[in-house]
Parts: sequence; structure tokens; C-alpha cells
Amino acid sequence: MDRLLLLILAQLLTTGACDKNPDPEHKEKHEGDKLDHWTYEDQKWNESYVVCNKNSQSPINIDTGKTILNKNLPPITLEGYNLLETEQLELSNNGHTVVLSLPDSMTISQGFTQKYLASQLHFHWGSETTPGSEHKVDGIQYAAEMHVVHFAAKYGSLIDAAQKADGLAVLAVLFQVGEENKHYDHIFDKLEDIAEEGAAVHIPGFDINTLLPRQLYRFFRYNGSLTTPPCFQTVTWTVFNETVWISQAQLRKLEVSLKTGRGTLDTNFRHIQPLNRRTVFASFSSLTSSRRIVPEEDSGKSSELNQSDGDHFTLGDTMAAVFGILFGCTALAFVIYVIKQRKRQRSSTERGQKVIYKPAATMEA
Ligand SMILES: [Zn+2]
Repeated sequence: MDRLLLLILAQLLTTGACDKNPDPEHKEKHEGDKLDHWTYEDQKWNESYVVCNKNSQSPINIDTGKTILNKNLPPITLEGYNLLETEQLELSNNGHTVVLSLPDSMTISQGFTQKYLASQLHFHWGSETTPGSEHKVDGIQYAAEMHVVHFAAKYGSLIDAAQKADGLAVLAVLFQVGEENKHYDHIFDKLEDIAEEGAAVHIPGFDINTLLPRQLYRFFRYNGSLTTPPCFQTVTWTVFNETVWISQAQLRKLEVSLKTGRGTLDTNFRHIQPLNRRTVFASFSSLTSSRRIVPEEDSGKSSELNQSDGDHFTLGDTMAAVFGILFGCTALAFVIYVIKQRKRQRSSTERGQKVIYKPAATMEA
């Protein structure tokens, strides 16, 4: 059974690991095997994969108000991410997502108590009518999500690491629709070449850093699982606070370019899983952090607003301050006016009493 699961995992997490252990027959061996035929439609995966029903599954909704600040979480430091053009990376359609293989010379050198090596990155997306991120933040589902999958160096390979409690580290990036992001064209421009399930092309290496947010030091951290069968609970998740922009046209390429045996490959996100007793840590204080702009808001806003340091004032903050000062001045002027009026009325009343004064007896008459 273990070997079967490992082979399934190898198929799901194709590329990097499979490059090291090429097994061209494993797909054929499992063709027709019910276990391989999971889909995103019903997501009743636990009938065939018991781990998918356990208590530490992913993705989750990150309730930022309930996260625990942990300033001891070191910033993510990446090495070897700037790949040479001569490095050929396999880009493939595995029927569940698009996968870009990554060399294990790419590493997370700091951020954990051990070193992790890259294996592959892939995407989750929705459809023309549905956003498609896997993680939600404060109940908001983002346009799409990218996962950069790493395995613990000490285990030697993705397959060996995938069943170890501290085996995998996945960096998650949430997308918002706005400005075009040319860096993603390395991948998105090739999607039509891998439209068919099982298709693969090679693309030249490029700087993978450019796909990530700038603020690698602001993130949420929790222990979870693979978001596809066999759902091993071996992933230390890092969900970056800062989102990344892509254009509507780029998102559309993700949503319509790829096919599976059943039709268009879209809506490939797993439903939110219960947090149960787990804690989600934040590497930053939410009181001083930039809040991501929710997708419903004006998507035409400058990316600088999103990518600027969170402690800086935004246009909205400045307007609020100006109106606050104006309101304060107006209120003060009003109070001064009221005090002056009362004084005037009092002296007028005193003068008036003298004028209208009549003896009580006369009043009662
Ligand atoms: Zn994923």
C-alpha cells in the first residue's frame, strides 16, 4: 500500500522528483486504477484515501483575528532561485494542474530549522465565474494560488520526504486581478502548447524570485497537508501576506487553456478544511501590516499600493486624516460658538429680567 501511495504521489507531484526516478511505466501501470481517478467535482476523496479525512488538512481559511503573532519566525530566505536560461525546466499538464519542474539547487536556506530543496511549482484556479485560490484569508477567496513545493534536504527526495511529518514545505502565493505581470508570461504563454493532459514542453530557466511577493517576511504559518490525494499531513505551510497581481487576460489563460480527459481543466481547488485544534501563526503584527486589497475593490489600483511597506500611509489613510482634522476644527468652532451664544443669552436674560420684572402679586392676578 505504501508503495502504491508513493507511486500515486509521484504521479501527482510529477517533474522534479520523477526526473530523478524516471518511471515512464507508472502512469500505464495505474491507468484504470480507481485510486488515480479522483476529481475536484465531488471531492469525496476520503473514500479511497483515508488520510484526506484526518484532522490537519489543507487548505484552510486563515482568520487573521485569531492568528498568533510569532516574532521568532525567521524570514524566508531563498537561494538559487535566479536560474540561468540554459537550465531547461519541464512544464507539464498532469490532468490536475500545470506543473513547472524546479531543480533542487533552489533552496529555502533560512526560515525553518532545516534546509528545504525545491521540487516544483503549480497553480490552482477557478473559472470565468468563480475565484480559485485554495486558502482563504478572512473568508475571502482570491483569484488563484501558486504553490512552490519543497522537500526536506535530509530525506533526499520528494517521495521519501512526503510521508515524514516535517518532510515538505510549501510556499503559497495568492493572486489578485489587476496589472499585467510579465514575469508569469514565461509560464502562461506556453499553456496552449500543453493543452492536452499529459503534454509537456521545456522552457528556459528564469528568475523564479520574480514570481513571488516582495515581502517574504510577512506570512502565515501552520501545519497541514497536501491539498490533493493522498492528502499526507506532512506540509509546513507558508502563506504570504502580500498578494501578487496578474491581469484578467493572464488569469483567463489559466482558466481556459488546459484540458483533461473530461473537458476544460478549471476549478481545481480543494474546499476549505476545518482548522480543528491547530494554531495559525503570523510572522507580523496585523495591527501594523498592510491589509491586502480584497478582490471586490477597485482592481485598477496601482500595484505600488499593494507592494509598498505596510507601515506606510495609503491614500485612504491620508484622506481619513485630513477629514478628521477638518471635522475636529469644525467641532471646536461650533463649541466656541455655542459657549459665546450662551454667554450672550445669559447677559441678555439678566438684562431682560430687569425689564420684564413684575411683583408676584401682579403676576398671580
Ligand atoms: Zn497545490
